[in-house]
Amino acid sequence: MSIKENLSTIKSSFLDPDCTLVAVSKTKPVEAIQEAYAAGIRDFGENKVQELMEKAPQLPSDIRWHMIGHLQRNKVKYLVDTVHLIHGVDSMRLLREIEKQAAKVGRVLQVLLQVHIAEEDSKFGFDAEELQEALLSEELAACRHVKVCGLMGMATFTEDEAQVSREFEGLKRLFDRCKSLSLPEHVQLETLSMGMSGDYLLAQKAGSTMVRIGSAIFGARA
Ligand SMILES: *Cc1c(COP(=O)(O)O)cnc(C)c1O
Repeated sequence: MSIKENLSTIKSSFLDPDCTLVAVSKTKPVEAIQEAYAAGIRDFGENKVQELMEKAPQLPSDIRWHMIGHLQRNKVKYLVDTVHLIHGVDSMRLLREIEKQAAKVGRVLQVLLQVHIAEEDSKFGFDAEELQEALLSEELAACRHVKVCGLMGMATFTEDEAQVSREFEGLKRLFDRCKSLSLPEHVQLETLSMGMSGDYLLAQKAGSTMVRIGSAIFGARA
């Protein structure tokens, strides 16, 4: 199956046609991205800063680049001019660095706060309590160069669909609860980024507004 065929199969399976599809192109060559671009995709996700920065100049400038992986603070400065949305903001320290680098170039950077929903300890992110604390903090209120657009989460890597669904539903409830808080004006929780190749339908069923799909589009990664 070609990239174009994979995309059309995936798109036609969507439970929510308005859900944004981010094509995760990490480890894949520029030619593969061009193929997806030709099929109409404009949102692409990478998880390594260096790889994103190498690919972006070789591709059309109307691509919206999503930084989806764990982001180290010392790499933020390289991204500020290029990135459309940073999905994995998992600490106030990282948020502070994004604020600092964005202020330097006079930009407002869009971010999602990553929430820890999986069973594994290895996954990054805020827990529910830390998240509410961060959203209501004076420090976040003072970050004028960051726009918090929503939340991101990754479910446990398991065959157990009931567990995956529970985790996504839990994140959706947390998202709705956070939306009802009285938040600063630069916090507008509209995006709920959850779902990958293996679980995007479960994520959409639970209320995802953005899915990050790699291998189902581009094939398995080496
Ligand atoms: C790699 C990756 C994806 C895409 O994974 P697939 O299973 O290939 O769809 C989604 N989100 C994040 C954060 C990733 O690192």
